[in-house]
Amino acid sequence: MFSKILIANRGEIALRILRACRELGIKTVAVHSTADADAMHVRLADEAVCIGPAASRDSYLNVAAILAAATITGAEAIHPGYGFLSENADFAETVEAHGLTFIGPTADHIRMMGDKITAKTTMEALGVPLVPGSDGELKSLEEARAVAEKVGYPVLIKATAGGGGRGMKVAQSASELEEAWSVARTEARTAFGNDAVYLEKYLDKPRHIELQILADNHGNVVHFGERDCSLQRRHQKLLEEAGSPVLSAEQRDAIGRTATDALAKMGYRNAGTLEFLYQDGQFCFIEMNTRLQVEHPVTEMVCDVDLVREQIRIAAGEELGYTQSDISFSGHAIECRINAEDPDTFAPCPGTVAVYHPPGGLGVRVDSALYTGYRVPPYYDSMIAKVIVHAPTRAQAIARMHRALDEFVVEGIKTVIPLHRRILADPEFQKGEYTIHWLEQFTSRPH
Ligand code: ADP
Repeated sequence: MFSKILIANRGEIALRILRACRELGIKTVAVHSTADADAMHVRLADEAVCIGPAASRDSYLNVAAILAAATITGAEAIHPGYGFLSENADFAETVEAHGLTFIGPTADHIRMMGDKITAKTTMEALGVPLVPGSDGELKSLEEARAVAEKVGYPVLIKATAGGGGRGMKVAQSASELEEAWSVARTEARTAFGNDAVYLEKYLDKPRHIELQILADNHGNVVHFGERDCSLQRRHQKLLEEAGSPVLSAEQRDAIGRTATDALAKMGYRNAGTLEFLYQDGQFCFIEMNTRLQVEHPVTEMVCDVDLVREQIRIAAGEELGYTQSDISFSGHAIECRINAEDPDTFAPCPGTVAVYHPPGGLGVRVDSALYTGYRVPPYYDSMIAKVIVHAPTRAQAIARMHRALDEFVVEGIKTVIPLHRRILADPEFQKGEYTIHWLEQFTSRPH
């Protein structure tokens, strides 16, 4: 096992990783920008190294500074968290070339899944079902037209290098295709420096259901069931549940088998998430994330597993030590992402937290790096906390989340807590009747 790990991230996820390290008896090195000198992860780590100014590209994305920090402090492994360098294959490769362990999959697998066209063709060859669409990259607008006619409108033009919902454009009909084609390509070129695009049928009422996988370096692959992440705004998840309100244990087992078989054949290792759109009883693979996900805690609650601890054990070469039949699911978990944003306009609201009092009690978990007096910097993601609840049933989990959010005090900045309260009180949400399009309609209703 490692004796010291560098955490190449900030905020709640840096703290989450630090906690797992502490319980494993591993020393931690925090890295931070000048804007984060007072951050909780810096205060709690055994050692801290400033790696640059506020802008992410000069600090949290500064590979040379991070590697220098690891070398100076004698860290043996680097945990990238999510975002920043977590899905950067070159970073993973450089870390390993320096004799350190990257806590995650191989650079080859990160690269393969980071290109969505390669990801889809790889998964298709391994027997995973896809959304109907183009066979790889579209070479011309004419080809796009032909594929769109075949699968039927509406269609979605997507960037192979896409992420964070960017480089994605819908064409409702043939007359909108040319514009979607050129806008998606321009956006992809600007955002990712790669304008290769592909086409998918735009599903009208899907749910976003994803599967959590762990694989060790000894050929053992297991899944920890699904998360329903259909509540999204601009393709950004806001509230997640485990399990999905619409999936039976049999359906979970079936898709779980398909996914674990595929990853075993690939020789995948460490944590990964297969994302699917689920409509009319069918799963359609859309992409794979080769890292820890923001919403991993809901899985941890229903499966009673510490996924970060498992990632570290796997990276250290340990065997999982359990099989699929040892994994069981208990109760229901919900996560609300608390963003420092205006709950109506979604404008970011950085600033100083005048009072901070997190909720507690049975079945309530808060993953956050906030404290009273903390200044939320304007440079990074607006997510400042995750409230996670676990209860025997979904109805009880909803009641518990309501109660937890009522207790949650964050003064001095605006947050989306009022929006979460409204969602939780909505009869459709309570019945579990929502698709990926539900939240956008919900937020545009007067209240
Ligand atoms: P990104 O990597 O940018 O997040 P994804 O491929 O994961 O892109 O898609 C993000 C979200 O966009 C999905 O969760 C879903 O809400 C929506 N989406 C993607 N593909 C489709 C599709 N074919 N039909 C309808 N919605 C889609």
